[in-house]
Amino acid sequence: MSPEQLVVHQARKSFQTGKSRSLEFRIQQLRSLSLFFAERQKDIADAVRQDLCKSDLGTELFETLGLEAEIKLAIEKLAEWAAPRPVEKNLLTMLDEIYIQPEPLGVVLIIGAWNYPWAVTLQPLVGAIAAGNAAIIKPSEVSGHSARVMEELLPLYLDKELYPVVTGGVSETQELLKQRFDHIFYTGSSTVGRLVMAAAARHLTPVTLELGGKSPCYIDKNCDLRVACRRITWGKFVNCGQTCIAPDYILCEPSIQRQVLEEMRKSIKEFYTDNPKTFEDYGRIINQQHFKRIMALMEGSTVAIGGDSDESQRYIAPTVLKDITGDSKVMREEIFGPLLPIISVSGVDEAIQFIKDREKPLVVYVFSHDNKLIRRVIAETSSGALLANDCLVHFTISALPFGGVGNSGMGSYHGRHSFDQLSHLRSCLIKKLAMEGANAMRYPPHTAKKLRWARFFLLKHVNVARLQQVALMAMLAGLVAFVVKRFLR
Ligand code: NAD
Repeated sequence: MSPEQLVVHQARKSFQTGKSRSLEFRIQQLRSLSLFFAERQKDIADAVRQDLCKSDLGTELFETLGLEAEIKLAIEKLAEWAAPRPVEKNLLTMLDEIYIQPEPLGVVLIIGAWNYPWAVTLQPLVGAIAAGNAAIIKPSEVSGHSARVMEELLPLYLDKELYPVVTGGVSETQELLKQRFDHIFYTGSSTVGRLVMAAAARHLTPVTLELGGKSPCYIDKNCDLRVACRRITWGKFVNCGQTCIAPDYILCEPSIQRQVLEEMRKSIKEFYTDNPKTFEDYGRIINQQHFKRIMALMEGSTVAIGGDSDESQRYIAPTVLKDITGDSKVMREEIFGPLLPIISVSGVDEAIQFIKDREKPLVVYVFSHDNKLIRRVIAETSSGALLANDCLVHFTISALPFGGVGNSGMGSYHGRHSFDQLSHLRSCLIKKLAMEGANAMRYPPHTAKKLRWARFFLLKHVNVARLQQVALMAMLAGLVAFVVKRFLR
């Protein structure tokens, strides 16, 4: 047995004992995960500093705070999420028990990406534990320090057999993907997403694919450009642009471009000083390969702000590019770095068409005072999410399902959506062996009269809850009439 096979085998054996199903056990594991963040914040921050040059406070704000919030929510809501969910009854099920029972799927494989190595790897884990599954955790080898700390420390807090961490690169991940899982939760590029889905198909394993893409950002001229540019500058350059939901490029009319550039220049200076290279809250590109890839994307573009770099430190300044067209090199792939191209459009019609001509993105951003224009962009484009007048923050709202559509992914998570995504929502119908007469219409011999009854029962939408209310009211009215007649006259 290969080490990957062994780990999956052990997780399945452990899952089959039923240990992970009890709500007490799930809550205890979630509390332990919470304790891990409380006690190991420094180890996590040190690892992220080495991987991405992020500051300790930046790591807490962007990596672990959201995880703590998700764990807290899951602990508070678990009993509600895991409870049977009654569904609407009809005339034929009026006397039956009918509900949806969430149940664990089994063994889940979680494959994480490197850009927020803790958040994107452990957030699906919160859902997997809450839903009562076992989970194999495969952090990205690209953020190697975080992967090592996860491998060393997580087993001190979580059940080792149910939630093992497997480290390694492409070959280890491919070996894992040969195994049979009950769900695969993948975060990363669309290219590898296709490989994951192909591997999953061999075992008919369902997948969640949290992918990337080019998220457009339309700035309307009817807009507070100062505020819009502050928010866009923050959303783009946080983590050096290595954020799946960062605005990838800007669409706006030429008449506002001078002011957009001016406001961005001011915001970059305000957030990262005159020299972002020496500023603690501006990170670095993850490795040389990505550094070279991003620098190559800039070729042939006009730099309006920034543009300087230092390969020895994998530093690229916050950079804004102008005079870009849909055919420019920087528009051919997701940038995933601190370059922000500005593309001229004649107005919202052309912006919508530009977005529709391309793959469905993870997010569409729109900045405008005009509510009607925002509604139009919602109605006429498609994306994993739409965010108006801000950047990134939809990620922090657990009530919203987070995920892509089309090329930006499939499935979604966060809060209860993680629980549902990693549960099987089992339909349960419990009938009595009484009332056999009511079934005559489905038994042979089939007659026109029986068919008429079947049509009545299946096509007539009677509000049973209302019917039951009316029946109850009628009974109460009868009771009152009886009491009045018998005792009060
Ligand atoms: P990556 O290189 O870390 O790869 C992701 C995972 O895939 C890793 O665990 C890696 O081991 C595995 N992997 C890589 N190549 C593989 C192969 N050939 N076969 C099997 N497994 C393989 O990350 P990346 O792909 O560079 O991540 C960046 C992408 O992820 C961007 O497109 C970004 O937008 C996207 N992303 C999306 C989200 C989201 O929530 N939607 C979050 C973060 C990143």
